[in-house]
Amino acid sequence: MVRVRACLLHAPAPVSTNPLELAEIPKPQPRAGQVLVRVRACGVCRTDLHVVEGELPPRKSPVIPGHQVVGIVEEVGERAHRFRMGDRVGIPWLHETCGECEYCRSGKENLCERATFTGYVVDGGYAEYALAPEAFVYPIPESFADMEAAPLLCAGIIGFRALRLSGIKPGGRLGLYGFGAAAHVAIQVARHWNIDVYAFTRDDAHQRLARELGAAWVGYSTVDPPQLLDSAIIFAPAGELVPAALRVLKKGGTLALAGIHMSTIPAMDYNLLYHERVIRSVANNTRQDGEDFLRVAAEIPIHTQVQVFPLDQANQALNALKNDKVNGAAVLQVAGDRAA
Ligand SMILES: [Zn+2]
Ligand SMILES: [Zn+2]
Repeated sequence: MVRVRACLLHAPAPVSTNPLELAEIPKPQPRAGQVLVRVRACGVCRTDLHVVEGELPPRKSPVIPGHQVVGIVEEVGERAHRFRMGDRVGIPWLHETCGECEYCRSGKENLCERATFTGYVVDGGYAEYALAPEAFVYPIPESFADMEAAPLLCAGIIGFRALRLSGIKPGGRLGLYGFGAAAHVAIQVARHWNIDVYAFTRDDAHQRLARELGAAWVGYSTVDPPQLLDSAIIFAPAGELVPAALRVLKKGGTLALAGIHMSTIPAMDYNLLYHERVIRSVANNTRQDGEDFLRVAAEIPIHTQVQVFPLDQANQALNALKNDKVNGAAVLQVAGDRAA
């Protein structure tokens, strides 16, 4: 039996204990409707931290994390006809939906009652091979290199959905709280739409990156920007940012919360919310979001700034992310350039 390398999480633990084990597992075999992808790159997302450290309750053990997978279709299962061997595809967080529940039937498959998620409920891309249903993977636009494309698959798509749900319009002023992988892509889309971006981050390197990418203003979340904002998105998992963001939001403005996990939102005065301000969370994405975003990303084109780690340094990548040591997006390089 052919064996392949994969990073296994047996049980959630602090990333400082390096909980991922690089192991050899049997090469996965595609079932009906699936593609087998030879992984070239896998982006490292904050959600991976929440899976590894157990802020999200375990759904599979052991599990291979990773849900921003770029690779090459190597085999297809029965009744899988969408891709050919050699096609380059991306596997995202939304692994599969039921297609039958009230959410799936009303264009809200991101809220599916029986959705499965890559790198959490099913094995993901911190590995040499990954499986996915062909209906839920994306062709990757040719203009993107493997490493550059990986962060588009969650940081990019979720940031894009958050932009849409924030209600921001061209010419408007948008606040971004936390300037990691998602924000560094979202700002490029926002600038393309002629939106002025106010970046709230305390990290020097993140502040510099925000300026380079065209932020109109950069500062701490405790500092008031010169003008009130039309909309804001919080990417950082810190509940105390909610009242801070509402404080600088115009009447009727929307605050979108883009993370899957957030610390407790502190009690706050109703006046912060009054005047029809809206707080809404962003949960997963639909396939339509992904397709729309990848098209826009290629048109702009988006440039992702990546910090590359080899597969056997997945623990180090997670620690770097946790300690704010990644500028842009962390990506595991699994194969591809290595052979060159
Ligand atoms: Zn469903
Ligand atoms: Zn993610």
